[in-house]
Amino acid sequence: MATREQTGTDYDVIVVGAGPGGSALAALLAKAGLRTLLVDKNRAAGGRMMTVHRDGFSFEIFPSIACPPQTLCSRNSSRTSA
Ligand SMILES: Cc1cc2nc3c(=O)[nH]c(=O)nc-3n(C[C@H](O)[C@H](O)[C@H](O)COP(=O)(O)OP(=O)(O)OC[C@H]3O[C@@H](n4cnc5c(N)ncnc54)[C@H](O)[C@@H]3O)c2cc1C
Repeated sequence: MATREQTGTDYDVIVVGAGPGGSALAALLAKAGLRTLLVDKNRAAGGRMMTVHRDGFSFEIFPSIACPPQTLCSRNSSRTSA
């Protein structure tokens, strides 16, 4: 995170990285009244929780790998919603 004096811009803070951490931080800073710029090297926000598109297929990285169907995750989800 860089300050307005360091960046020489009209922003009070620049948050680099729009994953969950950076997005939450930027939201809190903006809510606190600071002029906040959130940037990321990728075209979309989300960090490691984003969707990846390749060869016509879309992969939800976070739930696809962490909670594939027929695993403890999905069984717990159905139990919770029942
Ligand atoms: C396959 C997988 C499954 C997961 N499953 C779970 C789970 O079930 N539960 C859980 O709690 N957590 C899980 N996680 C972890 C979770 O995704 C991370 O804890 C979380 O994404 C970390 O958020 P972050 O904002 O700190 O970092 P990140 O999500 O890594 O975001 C960092 C961002 O900074 C950007 N960035 C980096 N360097 C630069 C640069 N030089 N300039 C501009 N932008 C930059 C990146 O592009 C990225 O968007 C999983 C992670 C993976 C990979």
